[in-house]
Amino acid sequence: MDKIMLVTGASRGIGAETARLAALAGFDVCVNYRNNQVEALDVVASIEATGQRAIAVQADVASETDVLRLYETIDNELGSLTALVNNAGILESQSNFENISLQRLRRVFDTNVGGSFLCAREAVLRMSYKHGGKGGAIVNLSSRAALLGSAHEYVDYAASKGAIDSMTIGLANEVAGQGIRVNAVRPGLIYTDMHASGGEAGRVDRMKSGVPLQRGGLPVEVAKAILWLISDESSYTTGSFIDVSGGR
Ligand code: NAP
Repeated sequence: MDKIMLVTGASRGIGAETARLAALAGFDVCVNYRNNQVEALDVVASIEATGQRAIAVQADVASETDVLRLYETIDNELGSLTALVNNAGILESQSNFENISLQRLRRVFDTNVGGSFLCAREAVLRMSYKHGGKGGAIVNLSSRAALLGSAHEYVDYAASKGAIDSMTIGLANEVAGQGIRVNAVRPGLIYTDMHASGGEAGRVDRMKSGVPLQRGGLPVEVAKAILWLISDESSYTTGSFIDVSGGR
């Protein structure tokens, strides 16, 4: 059976590293991105260099129309999905709670929660025995923020990741009999461009002394945990979480 993976938000950071490692594990990969076509095409080229197939598909995961088009493209160009990594996520400028507007809350939840729900729903429709599928695996990108709360920075983002934790448990239980495992990874402070979106590109270095391992993490260290949860090596693991956070 062909192994076919969708990684949302795979033009950079943890998603790009996951897509590259997936190719080395024998997956054909759909590299989804929102804006950055040049970087997405770079990831596609590095996957193709391993001999696997890859396509880059622009789609905003917060848009149901875009998600439906994304999955139709995968169906037509790669085949039936066997693995989903719900990685696309955003945060906004560091802010105290009292300054979080409803519009901002909606933007963060639409992408982080709505996008993950929509992509998981379309994956289940293709993977579940009930719908004629052959099973599969889903990994959601949560965050240690779900447990820490991100006070004075982005409680909205942390709460969106709390929702991802609940969805991981509920969906895992719902589809366990349908051949689908659902797990999540909770990264801690990882060196990616995401921190610049919050207005502090150097955030990991500022905070790393509070990490028991005394350093920030690399995207590839998160990607390895994701790939383990996708692989048959974790065949008895569902509804579970791996914290990749240096102990913090
Ligand atoms: P990043 O470097 O900011 O990359 C985000 C990726 O998501 C980009 O490829 C971006 O595409 C894409 N994206 C954003 N909004 C999208 C949308 N609406 N539709 C489709 N794609 C979208 O992020 P990262 O640090 O690698 O984070 C990846 C995941 O890990 C996120 O869910 C994040 O919350 C989680 N996480 C990260 C950390 C950390 O310290 N970095 C810690 C905990 C959890 P474009 O470039 O094309 O816009």
